[in-house]
Parts: sequence; structure tokens; C-alpha cells
Amino acid sequence: MINPYNLVRSVKLAARGPAQDHAHLSGRSGTLDCWLTTITPIFTPAAAARASGTATNLHFFRSANRPAIPGSSLKGMLRSLAEALANGCSPFDSRLHPRCHSLESLCLCCRLVGYLKGSNVHARHVSMSDVLVEAGYEMGSRVTLKELSSPKPERHTPFYDDATRSRGRKFYYHQSHVQHVGDIPAESRPTHRNVQIEPLLRGVFRFSVHYWNLGDVELGLLLHTLDLPPELFHKIGMAKPLGLGTVRITVSGWKENVINPADPAWRYRNLGQASFHVTLAGLQSAEALTAARALLQERIDAVKGAYARHYSQVLGAPVSHDLWTLPAPHLEDLKVMLSLVSYAREIRYAGYGWFQNPTNAQRTLPSIARVQSGERLPD
Ligand SMILES: [Zn+2]
Repeated sequence: MINPYNLVRSVKLAARGPAQDHAHLSGRSGTLDCWLTTITPIFTPAAAARASGTATNLHFFRSANRPAIPGSSLKGMLRSLAEALANGCSPFDSRLHPRCHSLESLCLCCRLVGYLKGSNVHARHVSMSDVLVEAGYEMGSRVTLKELSSPKPERHTPFYDDATRSRGRKFYYHQSHVQHVGDIPAESRPTHRNVQIEPLLRGVFRFSVHYWNLGDVELGLLLHTLDLPPELFHKIGMAKPLGLGTVRITVSGWKENVINPADPAWRYRNLGQASFHVTLAGLQSAEALTAARALLQERIDAVKGAYARHYSQVLGAPVSHDLWTLPAPHLEDLKVMLSLVSYAREIRYAGYGWFQNPTNAQRTLPSIARVQSGERLPD
């Protein structure tokens, strides 16, 4: 048996720096268009309608009468990944990742997506649209989920708490064998603690990310959170412990204004004229698609390289242009947690009875590396 989530190790906090001044036009501004394709069923809820005594009935969030993912969900997912990649602070102010406390000293994540504490506000440099589904999607029939919450952690302190305190950031394993409604763990005798959902089985969504006044390093981090290596995947929405939410994000278009540092007025004279614009949308021929894809990836990799070189220095490692080749514990852990692990069928929460066994009560959550090398919890 394997616990549905594990904890990505933390390394030292990345360098902090002062917030960039919004009044001063510098750096890069533009729009990234993306596709989000489901790999397993996904579900993001609209407001709940509860009938007392029975399972809570949840509907898929909708925008313009179509299933959609709220921009806030997308932003939350990308912020979590950015924090893990860059060792940013946590908005939950954990001991391991204390929140930034001054505008003069912000981590990269706060500089990118914003910072708020009392009257100290640093406006964000990134905004996300809602994520809207394209025609041709497929909804599944309603299913009553097995209970989602993990066993009450206070009852099993050593197992969950020690790991959370000392290791850091929570990520759920992907469970790519979950493909149909029948694969989703269902509850046959629901109580008020269960929820009933309508999963979206297959679909392609579209969204845009707008950014402004970013340096190459910040934009490089943003691109790393969107554009994962082909063998790694994002996870979004509800019921992650039950295998829902695995998606692939593809950057499908990029429109950008780059200011000429030698001529700050350049942008005013060229308003509305993108200096770079490539899109895969609407391209029909295979040749045109291949060419556009190569141009886009070349540009993406160049900016991601700027972040990789910066982060090589933060780690004190030899300079690398590819972040994922850097030797660091959190990157090693993320490479496992974001991949489609072969042991996903063994994933489930330990039940109440398991913790009642005195031997199990003394166990701690095995690390990502130990699970990867074959360690299992007894059933
Ligand atoms: Zn921060």
C-alpha cells in the first residue's frame, strides 16, 4: 500500500530581492496561450448544494454554459509548483517555508504572483483567465466518491506529522489507470461525509496567461511551471487522492512585446505591435504546425534556460541550461511525483483499522525515494 500523497523535500530558500516597481516599464510583457488536455478524468466544483443526511451533490464549475476550471484553481496549482521549484515561501506560513515579510525582500514566487500582508501590497505580474473547454468533451455519469479526507492526522501524529514538519510540500501521485467512471473509487453506502460529482472524462481546455514587467529569470520560472518535460504532468481540481486531475499543459501560442533597454520609449511608439507572435491554433498543414512548434519551443527553451542558469548559481552547482538536470533533492522528488509512476494501483489511504495496529501506529510516511525503491506499507 502507498499513501496517495508524499512530501517533496525542501532545500534552502532561493535568494530574495526587492519588488519590481510597476510604474517603471521594464522587461517583458505578453500573453501565453495554452491547451490543457485531460489524461485522467477531472473535476472542479461549482458551489455545493447539500441535502441533509445524504451525500453532497456537486456540479462541475461552468462558464458560458460549458464546463470550466476557475482561473483561481489554475493559479493555485501553478503557484504550488513554482514554490516547489524555486523554494518560494508558503502562503500558509509554515516553519519550513516562512512567508516573505517585507517588500524589500521577496521570494521569486511573491515577485511573480503577488504578495499581501497588512498594508504591504505588492501587485502581481501575472494573471490567468478561466480555463474553458472546447467542443467535443465527454462528461461521465455521476459517481459518489469514497471519502476524500485522509484519516484524521491528529490521531496518527507520527505517520503524517513528522513527515509534514520535516520534509515540506505535499504532492499527490498520478494514477493514470483511472480512465472511466468505473475506475473511480465509489461509495456504495454514502453518508453526509461523502460527495457526489459529475466527472469530465475527456476534453481539451484553453486558457491564457498574461504577464507584464518580468525579467528573464521570472518569466523562465513561469514557463517552467507551465511547460513540463514530456514525461511529467500537472494535477488539478478535486479528488486527487482518488486519481482524478491529471492533465497535460501545452503552450500553443505566444505574443510578446520586448522593450529595448537602450530606448525605453520604444514600447510607447510600438503599442499594439507584438515583436513576437506565434500560434499553433488554426494551422492546418503538418509542415506549418511542425515549423511553428519548433519556433515556439526554441523561444520557450531560451527563456527557461535563463532561469536554469540562475538557479544553478542559487544551488552552487555547475551551470546548466536545463533545470531538470540539476542535482537537487526537491527536483529529484518532483520528477517522481509529477510522473506516471508504475505503482499507482497500490495507492490508497490507510483506514482506521490499520492505525489501530500498534506496529503501524509507530510507522512514519516513507519518503518519495524509499517508495520509488520499493518500500511499501503493509496492507
Ligand atoms: Zn514569498
